[in-house]
Amino acid sequence: MSKKIKGAERLAGDTYYFPDITNSGYKGGCLIDTGPDDRMYSGLPIKEILITHGHADHFSCAASLRRCGVLIIAAREEVPLVENPEINIRGMFSWAKPSDEMITKLFHGEGCPVDAFLDMWHDSGIQIIPLPGHTLGHTGFLTEDGILFTGDALYVKDIWRHHPLPYAIDIGLTKSSLRLIESLDFKCLVPSHGEPISKEESTNHINYHIERIAMIDTLIIDSLREARTTEEIISLVSASLDLIENPPQYWLAVTTIKGFLANLLQRQLIEFFVRNHAGYWRTIDYQL
Ligand SMILES: [Zn+2]
Repeated sequence: MSKKIKGAERLAGDTYYFPDITNSGYKGGCLIDTGPDDRMYSGLPIKEILITHGHADHFSCAASLRRCGVLIIAAREEVPLVENPEINIRGMFSWAKPSDEMITKLFHGEGCPVDAFLDMWHDSGIQIIPLPGHTLGHTGFLTEDGILFTGDALYVKDIWRHHPLPYAIDIGLTKSSLRLIESLDFKCLVPSHGEPISKEESTNHINYHIERIAMIDTLIIDSLREARTTEEIISLVSASLDLIENPPQYWLAVTTIKGFLANLLQRQLIEFFVRNHAGYWRTIDYQL
């Protein structure tokens, strides 16, 4: 029998979600990610928290809930990021230590020990769906009630207005994860940011995300008909997408644009070379 849970909306069967700046899911004692405030879950029986990925806004109160006896489960690749958010912060800055004003608030948070790897975890009511690209071990969860929690793998249309360059470390993996989401059988999709959408609506959002990636690919390929430095291409893409101009946004864009460059390099559409000790990129033109 499903019952009412304070602060949560029931989506189907006994799968619920807590709407917040970062949505969290709940089914049968398992919380999927956490919102920013642990008071939201007071009185809720939680045995485990499944973490979609190691960005601090997805496990904001995991450490405080763990102190009450909850177990934390995450994909192997994400464990270092969950246990020590400093790793993600340093990774963003080539392992050197950035200053505080350079770091997005989404990466700042309290680290939390992880009790078990996801690949060793099993629950008959929740299926693990690997959705890498946003991070290497990014994972979605599909409940037996047909509710798919996709973390940050899909940016729904509403979110694009504020995030015209969704963070991704691997564009090829991001695209294959979007195609995988499209192939799954579910009733309702819950993104970490934004409103839940139906299976029918999801195709439109997935296609939009893939089209935007293709648009950014084309922008980079066209701009690199003339050789440009990494810094120049970051500036050009950021300006074209009208990104907010500040240090944390700049550093987020650096990672994602390098994700695009790496993918185009792998597809042999662009090349990289060093001149006067600066890194340059250029489109490969087979016509010449
Ligand atoms: Zn994220």
